[in-house]
Amino acid sequence: MRIALLFLLFLAGNFSKAQEPGYNPLSDIYRASPEKINSLIHTKLDLKLDFDNSYIHGKAWITLKPHFYPTDSLQLDAKGMDIKKVEMVTGNKKSPLKYSYDGLFLNINLGKTYTRYDNYTIYIEYTGKPDEFDAKGSAAITDAKGLYFINPKGEDKDKPIQVWTQGETEASSVWFPTIDKPNQKTTQEIALTVPDKFVSLSNGELVSQKKNNDGTRTDNYKLDKPHAPYLFFIGAGDFAVVKDSYKGKEVSYYVEKEYESVARQIFGMTPEMLGFFSKILNYEYPWNKYAQMTVRDYVSGAMENTTAVLHQESAQQDARELLDGNHWERVIAHEAIHHWFGNLVTTESWSNLAMNEAFANYSEYLWDEYKYGKEEADKNGLGEMNGYLQSESSHKELIRFYYDEKEDMFDAVSYNKGGRILHMLRNVLGDSAFFKSLNLYLIQNAYKAAEAHHLRLAAEEISGKDLNWFFNQWFFGSGHPDLRIDYVYNDEAKTASVIVRQKQDNLFEMPVNIDVHEAGKKKTYRVWIKNRVDTFNISYSQRPDLINFDSDKYLLVEKEENKTLQNYLYQYKNASNYIDKKEAIEFAATKYTTPEAVELLKLALKDRFYGIRSLAISKINVSNAFLKKELEQEILQIARNDPKRTTKAAAIALLGSYQKSEYQPIFESALEDSSYSVAGAGIKALAFLDPELALSKSIALDNGKVKGELAEAILLQYLNSGKAELFDKVVVEFRKLPLSQAKFNMLMPIGELIVNTENTSLLKKAVDLIVEFRDGVPSQYGLTEPLNSFLETLANQKNGRLSSATDKTALQEQIDYLKQAARGGF
Ligand SMILES: [Zn+2]
Repeated sequence: MRIALLFLLFLAGNFSKAQEPGYNPLSDIYRASPEKINSLIHTKLDLKLDFDNSYIHGKAWITLKPHFYPTDSLQLDAKGMDIKKVEMVTGNKKSPLKYSYDGLFLNINLGKTYTRYDNYTIYIEYTGKPDEFDAKGSAAITDAKGLYFINPKGEDKDKPIQVWTQGETEASSVWFPTIDKPNQKTTQEIALTVPDKFVSLSNGELVSQKKNNDGTRTDNYKLDKPHAPYLFFIGAGDFAVVKDSYKGKEVSYYVEKEYESVARQIFGMTPEMLGFFSKILNYEYPWNKYAQMTVRDYVSGAMENTTAVLHQESAQQDARELLDGNHWERVIAHEAIHHWFGNLVTTESWSNLAMNEAFANYSEYLWDEYKYGKEEADKNGLGEMNGYLQSESSHKELIRFYYDEKEDMFDAVSYNKGGRILHMLRNVLGDSAFFKSLNLYLIQNAYKAAEAHHLRLAAEEISGKDLNWFFNQWFFGSGHPDLRIDYVYNDEAKTASVIVRQKQDNLFEMPVNIDVHEAGKKKTYRVWIKNRVDTFNISYSQRPDLINFDSDKYLLVEKEENKTLQNYLYQYKNASNYIDKKEAIEFAATKYTTPEAVELLKLALKDRFYGIRSLAISKINVSNAFLKKELEQEILQIARNDPKRTTKAAAIALLGSYQKSEYQPIFESALEDSSYSVAGAGIKALAFLDPELALSKSIALDNGKVKGELAEAILLQYLNSGKAELFDKVVVEFRKLPLSQAKFNMLMPIGELIVNTENTSLLKKAVDLIVEFRDGVPSQYGLTEPLNSFLETLANQKNGRLSSATDKTALQEQIDYLKQAARGGF
């Protein structure tokens, strides 16, 4: 699964955090792997979707066997169902079985004792009622209704009718009875009956289709290899299906019909991804199909259902958006590699979730590195690492046996930190041993469940090295090194000391490369940090231009070091990787009144890698007049000519701050650009010169279809105008934005409007919009409390103006409205 963690990061920096309960007894429960009493073997389902009632009418034939010990009973997960029949199937005969059902568990008396050598098949007739299922005892699982009917009766004319499922973590058992645990595996056959006007999707090969007399059609799917119940999927709706292939297997993209022409642009690299992952893992793609479907109102980012991947609607980008780059490509890679890590070898419990998600997170690095080069991979990989560092989760272990809710495991530790840990393991083992270890892990655990030790043992077998030290600190321990690195030169003795102090509580032990650049030559030393303070002495004949600790920049660390601007300039020019350059730019940006700093920033603005050029633009502080003047020509060149649209856009927006009318033609021509980022930057830049013109151009460009940064820029002009008559458009556009960081970022200008407007009815509409957003965001994002405190802050700001206000009654009404909203009122 891929979730949008960014929300949380934004909140950490900008709002007071949600209150954590002081004591929660749930977190004292040791989360062991589920015991296997009976094991699933095969699941055959005959399913009819009932759009009138949002029900699913099902027949299930479930074949099982006792795992080891003989047993005469079976417990199945079956959540919120009407159970109609429970029978034992013997040959062609069915005989009723005694059972009890409490709305969550179906306990069946098998009528006799079975041993591990006996397979048996249970037949169950049931109706699943996902909308009526009342998850007991937990706020986090109210969203886990498993089966979702979107606009089932077609009452909303702006929304298609769709059905889709979300099994992870244990919600598949809302739509079919099963042992809903990740350490169970079953082959599957599904006969899915849908209205004939719809296309359907499920796991595995579509083996046959049959039209029925009542306007429905039954589609038969078969997955011939076993997988876990949470990976089961059914979906249906009015989709265009664009077909591709990989080594003769179906690869298909289900999109809403208006996206049919761009489906290949969005998903078309999928066959190349399957080939790439098959090759680096030396393990051929193991499943018989690869389909991807985009749906409305999805509760997560994307989900790796075996051969039937689901994506949220923001995967659907139009041709203009795609000019700025496919922002969904890394998610597509993430779900693809889950078909090895997650679907082929599955985490044995949610405590071990990283065995799925760390690999999926790291696949994004691997894909970037292969397709776009190491700089792109390092840029995005560093972003992932910072996502973990900013999440303030350093107290959590990667493999975690204590947690409140299963859903809590889907965090920046299991994902971001996990990915970075694999990156470090790769560096420690070397590429060849690392990928061979992954291959052995896959071979040894294929179609089974695994835990972190399986990976350790495979890596030890391949490399011949003991790896307990690595796994103990990174997989089973928490935290990360927080380093103070000092470079001390003694020109008389001609020695340099690299002094590394570990500031965090638990010491880490890691190998690190130190590069010494002396007289135009580079020498690399491999050292280990392991003590509170480690000192590495290096002799030289001429004082080195640079000593670069962790020259691979592979560590997961926080650090401070005492390099000079001269060191950083040398580092920028001579050290090769993205992070070296990034650190140099960030240092120079703080020392911008020196010629070396300007030289470094000028070089960065001309770097061959767009990521460096974009970074440099983002770091230039134009409130500094010296720097602003020195770098103007470089920024202008990028605004005019940069081949990368998003970099060009950033330069245009920055150029706006120069407020020079001679640049107006650049901004106006940007508005004609097909790229949303460039056109959006044009609007923002123009707003510096002439807000009225920016507003009128926004109204002219607003054809009701624009998306991305242009839509955001237009929305911002409407908001900043403070005009009540434009706010209805704001509401329409804001509602259209998919749940994303961009949408979240709009809350700030809405808040500013609320603070600045004196129009009470406008204020109420703006508050209502924030409340609507707050109440619509799935609870797992934990936004309710922070948004309430945001509203509270706005109320306090208004309150501060009360003494000087001309219309105190109106202002008091506004404050009361905000406070009521902040208390969750209305
Ligand atoms: Zn995932």
